[in-house]
Amino acid sequence: MRQFLLSICLLALVSCQSSRTALNTTQQNIEFTILQINDVYEISPLEGGKAGGLARVATVKKQLLAENPNTIAVLAGDFLSPSFIGTLKDEAGERIAGMQMVETLNAMGLDYATFGNHEFDLSDPAVLQKRIDASQFEYTTCNALRINGDKKEPFTQKINGVDRPIPSYLIREFSNGKGQSLKVGFIGVVLPFARQDYLHYEDVTESFRSTYNEVKDKADIVVGITHLDVVEDRQLAADVPGVALFIGGHDHTEMNHYVERTVITKADANAKTAYIHRFTYNPPSKMVQIQSSVKKIDDSIADEPSTQKVVDKWQSKVDQLMSEMGFDPNRKVLQLSQPLICKEALVRTQPTNYGQLTALAMSAAIPGADVYLLNSGSMRLDDNLSNVVTEYDVLRTFPFGGSIVKMQIPGIRLQQLLDTGLKTNIGDGGYLQQIRAVASSGGYLISGKELEKEKMYTIVLPQFLAKGREQNLEFLGEYTFQETAELDMYDSKVTNDIRNIVIAYFKQLKQY
Ligand SMILES: [Zn+2]
Repeated sequence: MRQFLLSICLLALVSCQSSRTALNTTQQNIEFTILQINDVYEISPLEGGKAGGLARVATVKKQLLAENPNTIAVLAGDFLSPSFIGTLKDEAGERIAGMQMVETLNAMGLDYATFGNHEFDLSDPAVLQKRIDASQFEYTTCNALRINGDKKEPFTQKINGVDRPIPSYLIREFSNGKGQSLKVGFIGVVLPFARQDYLHYEDVTESFRSTYNEVKDKADIVVGITHLDVVEDRQLAADVPGVALFIGGHDHTEMNHYVERTVITKADANAKTAYIHRFTYNPPSKMVQIQSSVKKIDDSIADEPSTQKVVDKWQSKVDQLMSEMGFDPNRKVLQLSQPLICKEALVRTQPTNYGQLTALAMSAAIPGADVYLLNSGSMRLDDNLSNVVTEYDVLRTFPFGGSIVKMQIPGIRLQQLLDTGLKTNIGDGGYLQQIRAVASSGGYLISGKELEKEKMYTIVLPQFLAKGREQNLEFLGEYTFQETAELDMYDSKVTNDIRNIVIAYFKQLKQY
C-alpha cells in the first residue's frame, strides 16, 4: 500500500509544522475516514477474478468502520452505464440500465455519490429517476439540472417517501465521542459532456465557486466530489482555493495531484484500486491533516457476504444469458503484455489498438475487401483492458453485438465515408476505427494506391452502419450489402456477430 501524507493549513496564520505538533499532542482531535471509488461499471472482479469487485470494497469499508466508526464511502460518478448487463432486460421487459449497480452499491454501504457523464447515458429521464430513487446513498451535484418544460430544476431523490431536490452540497457531522464534533461539506460537480434533452449544465467553475462560498461558513472542512478531467480538476482547484480534497473521477487511472492546498485523487476504474483518506482535525487550531493511501482491490481481500449475495444474484443472470448465447464469461481468449485501449475519449477520437485489432478480426472473417471499418460507438467499454481478455470482456466491449457485412461503393462515396467518419464525427460514436485507408494530402491511399473517385471499392462494416443508422453516415443506407449468417474463420464456422469474430481472432492470436 502506497501512502502519502498531506497537511493542509486551514488557518493561514498557523504554520503547518507547529500545527502538526499540536495535532499529535491534543486529545481533542476528531478523526474520520473516506473510502473513495470512482468510475465503476462492474460489480464482479475483472482480469480473471484478480482485480476489483464490489464485495471486496465492502469488506474494506467494514474494516475501516471497525478502525473508526466515522467512516463513509464515496463514489465520484460513472456507474449506471455502460455495462453488458445494463443492456439486458428484466422479467418485466424493462432495461436493467444500472439497477445492478444501485443494488450492489446499496448493499456495499455507499454513502454519497455525484453524477458522472455516464449516468446521463440513460436517455429516458424516468428510468434515471427510478435508479436515483432506488439508491440508498445520497447524491450531490452543483451544476447538473433537469429541464422541466421551460424550467431548470434540481434533480430529485425520493428519501423516505418524500421527493427531495438533490442538493448542490451535503453536510456530514462527525464527532470524537468526547464532546467535539466537526462538519464536512461535500460538493458534487460533473463535466458537461453527456447531452440529453432533459439535461442542463451550469458553468463548472462558477457553480462550484458559489457553492463553496455558501458551504465554507457552514462546514469546518470542504471536500469536492469532482467528476472532471484532471486538467479541469487542477484548474478548478486553482480557481477555487480552500477545498481540502477533490475526490475525483472520469480519468480511470490512479493518480494524485496537489494544487494550491487541494489534494486531488482518482482511483482506477472498476474499483481495481480505492483511495483511503484518513482525516485528523484539530478544533483549536482548525488544522486538518489528510493521510491518503491507495488500496489495491484484489483476490487477497475476502468478499463481504451480504454484498456478494447481491452480486451473485446479478452475476448468475449474466452467466445464464451468456451461456445461452454460447459464451463462457470466464474463458480467457487473449493474454496481454500491453493494455487494449478502449477509453471512450480515445476510441472516439483516434485509432486505438483495440479498434485496429477489431478491424483486423473483421478482415480475418471476410478477407479480400479494400477497407474494414467500424463505428467506435459500438465499443462501449470506456476502459482499457490489461493482463488478460476474457469472453466477458469482449461482450462488455460490444454489448449490442451485431453482424458484419460486405458492400460495394464508388470511390467518391468512400471518400465521403472516410471524411465524415474520421473528421466530422470525431468525438462521437460515429468516429470510425478502420484499417487499410491512409490519409494523404487531402485524399486517401487505399492499400497504398490513391483513392479513385470512379472506381468501385469493397468495404466490410457492421450491418448497423450499412443500414445508414449512424449519424452523418445515413447515405450508406442507399447501397445494398451482402450478409452471411456464418463465416469461415481458421477452419471453423463462426456465427456472424462481431463478438464471435473478435473472440475467434483473439484466440488464434493467443497473445498481444
Ligand atoms: Zn466520466
